[in-house]
Order: sequence, then structure tokens, then C-alpha cells
Amino acid sequence: MKKDKKKYDAIVIGSGFGGAMTAYQLVRAGMQVLMLERGDWVPRGPENWGIQGSVDLTPHYDKSSPVRVVSGGNKKVMGLYSCVGGPSVFYGGVSFRFRERDFEPDAEISGNSGAEWPMRYRDLEPYYALAENILNISGEAGIDPTEPPRSIPFPQGPGPLANISQQVKKGAEQLGLRPFQLPLAINYADTSRNNCVHCTTCDTYACAIGAKNDLATMVLPDLIERGLTLKANTVATRLHAEKGRIQYVECVDKITGERLQYEAERVILSAGALASPQLLLASGLQELNSGGNVIGRYLMRHVNAIIFGIFPGQADKENRFHKQLAILDYYFGHPGSALGKLGSLQQMPTPPKGLVQNAIPGVLGKLLSQGVPLLTGLLAIAEDQPQFSNQLTISPDQKDAFGLPQAVISHRYSERDLAALGVLAREAKKILSHSGALTHYVHHIRTFSHAVGTVRMGADPNTSALDEYCRFRGVDNLFVVDGSFMPTSAALNPSLTISANALRVGEWISKI
Ligand SMILES: Cc1cc2nc3c(=O)[nH]c(=O)nc-3n(C[C@H](O)[C@H](O)[C@H](O)COP(=O)(O)OP(=O)(O)OC[C@H]3O[C@@H](n4cnc5c(N)ncnc54)[C@H](O)[C@@H]3O)c2cc1C
Ligand code: SF4
Repeated sequence: MKKDKKKYDAIVIGSGFGGAMTAYQLVRAGMQVLMLERGDWVPRGPENWGIQGSVDLTPHYDKSSPVRVVSGGNKKVMGLYSCVGGPSVFYGGVSFRFRERDFEPDAEISGNSGAEWPMRYRDLEPYYALAENILNISGEAGIDPTEPPRSIPFPQGPGPLANISQQVKKGAEQLGLRPFQLPLAINYADTSRNNCVHCTTCDTYACAIGAKNDLATMVLPDLIERGLTLKANTVATRLHAEKGRIQYVECVDKITGERLQYEAERVILSAGALASPQLLLASGLQELNSGGNVIGRYLMRHVNAIIFGIFPGQADKENRFHKQLAILDYYFGHPGSALGKLGSLQQMPTPPKGLVQNAIPGVLGKLLSQGVPLLTGLLAIAEDQPQFSNQLTISPDQKDAFGLPQAVISHRYSERDLAALGVLAREAKKILSHSGALTHYVHHIRTFSHAVGTVRMGADPNTSALDEYCRFRGVDNLFVVDGSFMPTSAALNPSLTISANALRVGEWISKI
């Protein structure tokens, strides 16, 4: 194994939200930081607009470390989203702050899981503000009834509403609801960069013109200029611990196959809520952790479904970006339901025709894709409960090309999870009917794209692997900052909360 002679101040594993935002603080504090990323840079150009630009059809849906899904997925074997900037490059850009009550104990959600946030919204608020500034979030404040207090306005106002969005907004308002514009990581106002051209291939596509404010556009190039060493195509395969500290990180260069060894004072693990517990378990670190048997447990992913309205003619006649509205009136409950917290409704655009054809090959796909222009929808995101039985384990006998034992997932929603989604889906149908839909079609989402919670933080060392600053209990110089840290999932897209927490933890690490 080749050993790098240089000793860094910090190694960051993974260049997604947790990794990039922690590095933001460490690099700015003058530290020598090495970032290891298993994926490559995503090229930008007109090809991003083609059907083959949708992430699952690109090489950045990396199948070289297949994840086995025993129960709960949409496929038996899954790949990982791998590229510089992580899935942010392909994401929808929705950048919500969690609500104040999301940080407070809620027995109906937590059940007997012992999940509890060791901080409150006010502790994270300054870092939400910083994350919004870094990602130049556009948004509309003051309408959403659940909106938490903010110390700054949104860095940008919202983009112009498409006609179909105005139609859905009116439909919701007729029902007495308060729709508002989604906070989005999209450039509408900064004239020094390309502004958004409102194309119809945004969520699941990389932006061809760099108008999406993803990490590979907004954060990493600047950090590299400031001295960050980023090694793409490098898979971390083991964290070697001795005397309660990580002594070195072992990796494989994906291009040359060479085994490499790197050393640093601190190691920040941010490989995502599936790959981080896999790496911790592969390294045997559960043995050192007081909450050891929780590593990989309490996997959450939201309960998501798209409720499509089927309209009498082309729903989006302008053929224009329209993932624009949010409706949070039922976030904390519905007068007709005994349940407490439910979740959010967010507009979902008409899917690209070719993508449906690609997903359902042959004549059936061709036939179904003809009906696609009639659709536009709402995504229901319901909060799911942290359950001990929902877990990621490893299968030590089955190793990938890099020597990593296979990750194995088993997941089942609770009755409450599904009931919460049911209430939201019913209301989404009403809104779409009021917006002109003739009937509906519900598409359940069974991916793990919102995975969180597998290496959670907490005050109790027996039930949480991480302390309040995401330090891994039992290994002094190891921190876990990706979405695995979350004790509960809330019912909002996770990236801004992962970013804010990473900025908070990064600042703390830079001072110790
Ligand atoms: C298509 C899509 C759309 C989405 N849209 C939204 C949205 O609109 N809003 C939102 O909030 N969230 C969205 N999400 C979810 C969001 O992208 C994730 O919640 C977020 O990226 C998780 O951040 P993270 O820091 O936990 O890890 P990630 O961002 O997943 O980063 C992990 C990184 O670690 C790397 N890695 C993994 N294993 C290793 C290893 N062994 N060695 C080195 N590197 C490794 C990965 O390649 C990856 O780059 C979307 C996700 C997808 C897939
Ligand atoms: S909608 Fe705007 S930000 Fe999204 S891909 Fe198109 S141009 Fe880029």
C-alpha cells in the first residue's frame, strides 16, 4: 500500500453537503484539508439536457459497490449517487429549513426509539442563514404558516411563476390554503453567472449552464482555490483506529486500482447515510462506540409519493420549469385526522416524456409516454418514524472490487408513516382537482434518496453514536456529518439542514 508522506489537518470523506460544508469552515480557518471523493466531476454542456442526462442513466449512478435491498426498495440491488458535489449536482435544489418543532421531542414520532435532538432550531439558525448565503437560495418569506424565524431575508427573491404553477396556486387558495414559492438553489439574479432559463430537465439532471447552485458550482472550486486538495475517483475503504483515534484512512484509486493510505489529525466522515455506516461497520468501529448497536439502525427516508393530476389537455402548455410551490398547511396535522405531524406538499413538474419511455421500454412505454404531457403533480413528503428494525448492515462475505463488504438494507414503513402519507395524498388530490385535473394517478417513491439517521446524534451515549458536535463516541478524532446524524427526519428535504449542521460542526472543529 502506498503511503502519502504528508499529514493533513483533516481528511474529509465525501464531497456532498456534509463534507463540502465542513470543509468550507476548515479551509477558511487555514487548515490543510484533503477531500476523498469516490465519484468524478460531472461535465457540463448540452448533453446534460438529453434523456441520458438523468442521473440514473449516467455513470454517476455508480454500480461498482452494489447495495442489496432485502425489503422496502424499488429495486433489489441499488447503486450509489457518486460524483464531485454528491447528488447536489443532480438534485431538485429545494432548500428548506426544518421547522422549530422539528427539533423538539415528539413522542408520537419518536415512539420508543429514544430519538432526541441535542440542539434546538435557535442553535442552528445562524448556520441556516450562512448555508442559504453560500448556496444563494431564492425564496419567498412571510406566507408559510409554519415558517421558523429568520435572521436574514432570502439572498434572492423567487423566480417567476409558470402558468401551470399559477393555476395550482389558485386551486390551493380556493381551498383556503397558503401556497408559497419553494426555496430553491437556483440562480435567478446574479448577473455574473448564467441565470436559469427555466428548462424542463432540472431535478435528476445536472444543469447544462451551471445555473443550479450545486456544490460543484458554488462551493468546491472556491475551496480548491483556497488550498483544498480534492482527490476524485478515490474510494475510502477502511478507517484504521488505534488508541481511540483514527490513525490512517485506507482507500483505492478507482482509475489505477492502487491502494493508498492517508493520515490526518482529524477525520470527517461524510459519505452519505448509506455509505457512512457501511464504512464504520467495515472498519469494526461499532466495537469502540458506546451506542455501537445503533450504527446502521433507525434508517429513515421519508414516505414519498407523487400525486399526478391528469388534465384534459397539456398541463404545462409553456413547456417550462414548474417545480415552484409548497403547501405546508398540513405540516403539523389536519383537522380531519387524529395524527399529529404529517408533512409537506411540493409541486412536481411534468416528467420528461423520453424518461418515461426509457423507464418502461417497448410499446407500453411509447404508449404511456404519449399521456405524459397531460400530467402535473404534487409530491407528498410525510415524516417517517425512526425504527430500530430499519437498518443497514454489511455482508462481510460479499466484497466489491475495492474490498468493501456489501451494504444490505432492510426497511419497512410503520402504520403511522403510511397513514400520514394517506392524509397528504388525499389533500393533494383535492388541490389538483381544484386546479383543473380530471382525475389522479399516485406514484409511490421507494428510493433512498432522502436517507438519513443511520449514525445518529444524541445526548444519551447508550442510544446515539454521535455527541452533539457529531463526534463519534469512542474515537476522539472522528466526526460524522452527512445526513446519518439526524435523530428524526422531519418532513422536509434534508440538504439545507445537513449543510447548516456541517457548518456548525466545522466551525467547532476548527476551534478545538
Ligand atoms: C435526484 C435527487 C434529487 C434530490 N433533490 C433534493 C432536493 O431538492 N432537496 C434536498 O434537500 N435534497 C434532495 N435530495 C437529497 C439530497 O441530495 C441528500 O439528502 C444529500 O445529498 C445528502 O447529503 P450528505 O452530505 O448526507 O451526503 P451526499 O450528498 O450523498 O454525499 C456523500 C458523498 O460521499 C461520496 N462517497 C460515498 N462513499 C464514499 C467512499 N467510500 N469514499 C469516498 N467518497 C464516498 C459520494 O460519492 C457522495 O459524493 C435529492 C437526492 C437525489 C438523488
Ligand atoms: S431549470 Fe434552471 S437551474 Fe434547473 S437545469 Fe434548467 S436552467 Fe438549470
